[in-house]
Amino acid sequence: MRVLSNKLLLIVTWLGFTFMLMSCSSNGGNAPAESQAQKMTEGHIDSLVSQMTLQEKIGMLHGNGFFTSAGVKRLGIPEFHTTDGPFGVREELHNDSWNPLGITTDSATYMPTGSALAATWDTTLAHAYGSVLGQEARERGKDMLLGPAVNIQRIPNGGRTFEYLTEDPFLDAQFTVAYIKGVQSQDVASCVKHYVANNQETNRGSVNVKVDQRALHEIYMPAFKAAVEEAHVEGIMAAYNKVNGLYCSENPYLLTDVLRNQWGFKGMVISDWGGVHTTVAAAKAGMDVEMGSGSDFDKYYFANPLLDSVKAGKVDESVINEKVRHILHVMFATKMIGNETRKSGSINTPEHHNAAYRVASGSIVLLKNESELLPLDASQMKTLAVIGDNATKKQAKLGFGAGVKAQYEITPLEGLQNKLKGKVTINFAQGYKEEYQKQNGPGPKVPVDTPDQKLINEAVRTAKSADAAIIFAGNTRNYETEGSDRASIALPFGEDALIKAVTAANPKTIVVIISGAPVDLNQVLTETKALLWSGYNGSEGGHAMADVLFGDVDPSGKLPFTFPKSLKDTPAEALGTFPGDNDVAEYKEGILVGYRWYDTKKIEPLFPFGYGLSYTNFEFSDVRSDLNKYQSDGRILVSVNLKNTGSYPGKETVQLYVHAVNSKVMMPEKQLKAFKKVELKPGEETVVQLPVNVNDLAYYDVDQQKWVVQPGDYEIEVGTSSRDIRGTTTVSVE
Ligand code: BGC
Repeated sequence: MRVLSNKLLLIVTWLGFTFMLMSCSSNGGNAPAESQAQKMTEGHIDSLVSQMTLQEKIGMLHGNGFFTSAGVKRLGIPEFHTTDGPFGVREELHNDSWNPLGITTDSATYMPTGSALAATWDTTLAHAYGSVLGQEARERGKDMLLGPAVNIQRIPNGGRTFEYLTEDPFLDAQFTVAYIKGVQSQDVASCVKHYVANNQETNRGSVNVKVDQRALHEIYMPAFKAAVEEAHVEGIMAAYNKVNGLYCSENPYLLTDVLRNQWGFKGMVISDWGGVHTTVAAAKAGMDVEMGSGSDFDKYYFANPLLDSVKAGKVDESVINEKVRHILHVMFATKMIGNETRKSGSINTPEHHNAAYRVASGSIVLLKNESELLPLDASQMKTLAVIGDNATKKQAKLGFGAGVKAQYEITPLEGLQNKLKGKVTINFAQGYKEEYQKQNGPGPKVPVDTPDQKLINEAVRTAKSADAAIIFAGNTRNYETEGSDRASIALPFGEDALIKAVTAANPKTIVVIISGAPVDLNQVLTETKALLWSGYNGSEGGHAMADVLFGDVDPSGKLPFTFPKSLKDTPAEALGTFPGDNDVAEYKEGILVGYRWYDTKKIEPLFPFGYGLSYTNFEFSDVRSDLNKYQSDGRILVSVNLKNTGSYPGKETVQLYVHAVNSKVMMPEKQLKAFKKVELKPGEETVVQLPVNVNDLAYYDVDQQKWVVQPGDYEIEVGTSSRDIRGTTTVSVE
């Protein structure tokens, strides 16, 4: 009865506003339908806010549970439910603790983690990925998905590098937009995180990131900007860290000047969990909703202290009204309120598993394939040795922070067993153990790197007696985890010794590195003929891997980050700015992050950004542009002929980089500005078109505080990786 009367009230308010707006429409009822609807929503929001008490408003501005915030029942405003996370809907937790509820109905599809998704270089997959998460979130009754996580992978040893997408802001922005559109197509709000410059876990709750305006706008903000401007994201999470002296959660430059005034953000800003440190400063800076992990919810900065601050005249009630309006805006956009029917969602469906499979199989990167060791041919072998702890490791729920209680996760060994059942005998040897040194207190986990000779001997025996061997090594989601960074990028757990021994025992050994971030592959590279990289590849990862290894799927992933030769080559290490001194991390490398650094400083990487081989070959020819000269508001259309000259069907990602010739301001050697993934059969040829808006050639002018396109010449470089350019053409901008 109560629910019914709430609903009735809502309908009456809605009808009243519909009528009012129809009768007073300023252009006689001819306004475009969209703006009419917008006005109606605005009117409805005004009406709701005007009926709320101050207490009710404040109730909406902070967690009343670990993942919920209050609604106003009597006005038909529902409670708001958020959920982690970026790669699958998290299991249900207690309302006031991090402990799982322990129910059986909260398993979900585990999607490949961030860097694996970006390694597909296929934004249609990012959209499908987002849709799966949106559907599963809806089915589980959630209103906001806390993803995507899009911070730039500034350091390869970062705890959350695996969760983030890439080191490149352009690729980052493209994937962010597609992912968010996918989520939000399901009537679920996406919450892009962590805004901004949250690029390390060490001291993340206190570190002051000193970053220049140019780097902030060109490197760290583009994905967030695109999320707002292009994907109309409904939520944004303020990061834990400080930026240039102020916590992100109380930073008016970030939360108001840039986010609201420059980008036009309409949705709600939520804090990272426990990321609010003040009441008045955070409220005035633009924080909307405080989330946390304390169970005394009334004591949150945005609970009783905020109520008191309003009563004491320290925060104007109009500031509170604005925040409530932002939340109501999200509720209308996701159809939580209003008269539109909301989608109901679905979970663990075959379509979702298929999307997980497509992302996984499109993300695996072939790093080396000497003597065409790959693909393997099942008809040519009787026994296959599968070696390494990662062959059997389920990664979905490991580590600290958001994981997924996967309905299932196919490990690499299971994937191979399913594929080769009845055809090839598989012998498994563990090879190494995941083990950490005992530690007192917090800090990064330190792996035990002493090789386990007994396990190595067993692996060598297994490999010797097999027709081929596959080693699954790399990191794990315990080792790469939220909350701590790694001290090194060396392969952990004595894996180098295992790989050396096994490759010596069987020359037909393939090494698969599973990690979410670059690792040191110098030694492995000299010893192995065939080498692959895979991210933490989700529920279907094992099937995808087996299909790539046996050639049913051409490996088409491209690295979303650089594999450096050494950690010392990376900008943060070279300049000694990680993790920072006295809690200050100064991003001295400015805009030279990722390949921008290696290319500009002429440092040879082990594998460059954008790199990835295929079983087939692609020939590029005739790189050309539609014009020679462009205006600053123009669009450059670059074309290139692409032909599959090998004998396998395959996919190539054509990458377009731009080099500013004779630039007056410092520019990176080259920057990614377009890419396209194309599928071709053997012998097939096509023309690939890559549009580049001249606007995208702009740099951020710190003095003018705006984006400026320099007139002059730009070299367009088209290739198969950032360091394998197959053709160039030069255009000029007037
Ligand atoms: C993480 C967020 C996450 C939140 C809730 C924080 O520690 O930084 O990414 O969404 O916890 O689990």
